[in-house]
Amino acid sequence: MTDTWKRRGLGEVTTAAPVDALALTPERRALQETARAFAMEEVLPVADELDPRREDIPAPLLDRLGDLGFFGLLVDAEHGGQGLGVFEYCLVSEELARAWMSVGSIIARGNGTGCASPDPARRAELLRASAAGRWIGAIAFSEPHAGSDLAGVECTARRSEDGGWVVEGTKRWVGHALSADFLHLLARTRPPGEGESRSDGLELFGVTKERGTFPDGVTGTPIDKIGYFGLTTWELTLEGLHLPADALQDTGQAEGQGFKDSLRWLGTARVQTAARAVGLARGALEDAVAYSRRREQFGHPIADQQALRHKLADMAAAVDAARALWWHAAWLLDEGAPGGDVAASSAKLFASETAERVTSDALQIFGGNGYTTEHSVERYWRDARLTTIFEGTSEIQRKIISDALLT
Ligand SMILES: Cc1cc2nc3c(=O)[nH]c(=O)nc-3n(C[C@H](O)[C@H](O)[C@H](O)COP(=O)(O)OP(=O)(O)OC[C@H]3O[C@@H](n4cnc5c(N)ncnc54)[C@H](O)[C@@H]3O)c2cc1C
Repeated sequence: MTDTWKRRGLGEVTTAAPVDALALTPERRALQETARAFAMEEVLPVADELDPRREDIPAPLLDRLGDLGFFGLLVDAEHGGQGLGVFEYCLVSEELARAWMSVGSIIARGNGTGCASPDPARRAELLRASAAGRWIGAIAFSEPHAGSDLAGVECTARRSEDGGWVVEGTKRWVGHALSADFLHLLARTRPPGEGESRSDGLELFGVTKERGTFPDGVTGTPIDKIGYFGLTTWELTLEGLHLPADALQDTGQAEGQGFKDSLRWLGTARVQTAARAVGLARGALEDAVAYSRRREQFGHPIADQQALRHKLADMAAAVDAARALWWHAAWLLDEGAPGGDVAASSAKLFASETAERVTSDALQIFGGNGYTTEHSVERYWRDARLTTIFEGTSEIQRKIISDALLT
């Protein structure tokens, strides 16, 4: 499958889907085509306009994501979702990130996140809302003093007299917090007991809120970032935040083991980050190919220069290798096969570092024009830089991979 699309300042840009009949069944190919057409026709123009103005993903675009079923890829059909796996979820994510990484990210705030109510009827209701894009959350795990070391979370949730909870603390890096329907919050309900690990006593909570406001007990300050626009990122101060008893998520884990559920979520999140990184790298590569054909110097298109052709070849090979890693990791996670989490770390490490390099090389191919906001390549470059940091830094992925090798 090869498609061409009109791009600002570049004329026609070609996107070439990987051909792998084993992994890409006709159903997956159809899903990929739907996501690609949506990304190129409806997301890219919005990203090109709003990202330079640092604006959020507009509500109509969120509605379109809901209509297309992208918030319900991982939700079972019984609850209105598509009942698909990590592979399909990441296939769509790569396409969305090719247009705007933030849109690739926002679907992770649906797809069943924050639906683990202890009440089965409420859980079913939330799953339906999640699949439809009416229950979009914000992930409030990290804190000023707890990033790579999430077990160091200091935010506390203590029982209130009415059987609910009172939460105190500070959360940092909470993307989409103001616009969300809920906060997916990691907090400490008790100190770890003797002989327990540091992560014991951490639990997940669902904080229901209205879009566009913070609940009583929560104040937010936006963080001034250098990229990843489309999703405003917040620092939240939680003071006397009162939650009902059923805000404590039923993760299926024993008391005090909510952190283990966060880790399970991180496996899928890391493969999805790898897929988003591939989307960014692919976008930069495809745009660089188009630019190098049009731009003439010394009386010839710069694409005639072997130095640039070799650069493009290295970029393409790296993108394909990164994609193969996320495909493999997604397949392992879907199969529940051993090694899925380590493969997720390998995919995340390799794809994010590839994206950083490939987007930088693409910007170089654009020359001075790459260093302007007239082309999307600067956005891919800024957003790719983040992929080596969030969802666990490259150093943390290397620690996970080497620990698996050596223990
Ligand atoms: C734009 C943005 C959006 C984000 N969105 C969210 C979100 O929505 N929700 C959320 O909960 N979090 C979010 N995060 C937080 C993100 O996951 C953390 O920034 C990340 O995990 C790193 O933590 P840190 O920033 O505290 O860095 P630190 O943990 O302080 O690390 C600093 C440096 O030390 C290195 N380091 C730390 N420990 C080790 C070690 N054991 N071995 C080797 N090196 C080590 C790191 O690799 C890094 O280079 C976001 C972050 C950013 C920047």
